[in-house]
Amino acid sequence: MYGLFRAPFLLYIIIRYSPFKIICFKERSKLMSDTLNEYQGKATMEKITSLAKRRGFVFQSSEIYGGQSGAWDYGPLGIELKNRIAGAWWKEMTQLNDDIVGLDAAILMHPRTWEASGHVENFTDPLVDCKKCKSRFRADQIPEEKLSSKKCPDCDGELTDTRKFNLMFKTNIGPAEDTSSVIYLRPETAQGIYVNYKNIVQSNRMKIPFGIAQIGKAFRNEIVTKNFIFRTCEFEQMEMQYFVKGGTDEEWFNTWRKRRWAYYEKLGVSMDHLRWHQHGPGELAHYAKEAWDIEYLFPMGWRELEGVHNRTDYDLGRHTEYSGKDLQYIDQETNERYVPYIIETSAGLTRNLLMILCDAYDEEQVADKGSDDDWRTVLRFHPVLAPITVAVLPLMKKDGLAELAQDIRKELKEDFSTDYDQSGAIGRRYRRQDEVGTPFCVTVDYQSKEDGTVTLRYRDSMEQIRISRTELVQRLRTDIKEYKRIK
Ligand code: ATP
Repeated sequence: MYGLFRAPFLLYIIIRYSPFKIICFKERSKLMSDTLNEYQGKATMEKITSLAKRRGFVFQSSEIYGGQSGAWDYGPLGIELKNRIAGAWWKEMTQLNDDIVGLDAAILMHPRTWEASGHVENFTDPLVDCKKCKSRFRADQIPEEKLSSKKCPDCDGELTDTRKFNLMFKTNIGPAEDTSSVIYLRPETAQGIYVNYKNIVQSNRMKIPFGIAQIGKAFRNEIVTKNFIFRTCEFEQMEMQYFVKGGTDEEWFNTWRKRRWAYYEKLGVSMDHLRWHQHGPGELAHYAKEAWDIEYLFPMGWRELEGVHNRTDYDLGRHTEYSGKDLQYIDQETNERYVPYIIETSAGLTRNLLMILCDAYDEEQVADKGSDDDWRTVLRFHPVLAPITVAVLPLMKKDGLAELAQDIRKELKEDFSTDYDQSGAIGRRYRRQDEVGTPFCVTVDYQSKEDGTVTLRYRDSMEQIRISRTELVQRLRTDIKEYKRIK
């Protein structure tokens, strides 16, 4: 057993201290065995969590009170990143598709919604507790032999019987806390779309096939929340429900699978870190005819990022039954009436943010001095997603360079999100921007005062070019549009 771990560790030591001068973190990890990859992966998640806190992306909720598990706060750079991910998805869905419109439904919905959707009855996880160490587990996530022998995976203590646990958060609305005032925090955004489907058909004259997109908060009382923001009790979803005629559903399902895959490619995500996973008969939700997940290779392994589901006419059929309202679609041309089928694409926004952070994270050796100081941490965000697009840096504070740099920043602000930094050596300032994924830096020096040119420095290649300040805006626009990830 010891030997098994030792061999990859030695390999890691050899690679880490080898004379190669530029070795990407990802290339290094490819060279390592699975065992070491796993170890390396964990280290990466720890590094990402610590970077996220240090640089203001994500903070633990209520940290000064010891923290609230399952909830996280998004800091100044985190909210910018989250808004940009949401914006990219929203643009992809609504701006680029004439047949998809948006919606923002309430979190609190009539409790009958959740009876109709099947959540009251079926939205459960199997739960077991350890009588000795008091740890709590999802029964479907512990090894089969431990579950059947009722032994705790952590301490071998005795496990309780498996019981069903409903993941919906329940509360009361109004002053009386009785059964008639029970209300739920929505566990998915989809139902807000289904109950509004008829409103949208009528108000916006939508013709099948068409889609409704929504981004919003969802809440699940998850038994186990771990791996940073991967699985949380409060999170955000980006869901699009596409309404089609039964019989065309399989074709549309395949179309949406292709479109969702192409979307991640367009965002510059490493495609070798994405794969499809088809739900087998045991995994398929009660409403689904077919379901495929896009999985991402997170540091802790392959995990679901987004689901594409063929929900059939189940949802609208159930809402018809429970509300007593006719939710059939009437085809104006043929007078045909039918309950539409629904193809759903359902992605976690906060989980996408974690994926984007993991995917962008890199460590790179940048100089030939052979010491640890020569490594830079860089977030290789697509410029469309980067919280700061361009940083303006005066070489010196004195001799009017700071004022000139501020003036250039003011000009760039109209078109891009900017940062300004005048403290410390220029190399350090570049590293600080690399670490938060700023794709472009503009440096203002003495020559700028004379001929109106500045240095434009690229994050990924670290290449620097001299350019007139009057050409900056156009140049940056083109660079953003034509961006191709090189590592
Ligand atoms: P999982 O198997 O990871 O619990 P799920 O199959 O229950 O996910 P869905 O109900 O299909 O997930 O939700 C759609 C998407 O919402 C998921 O692909 C994921 O990105 C996101 N999501 C679901 N639950 C959570 C959570 N607790 N925290 C963060 N994101 C979540």
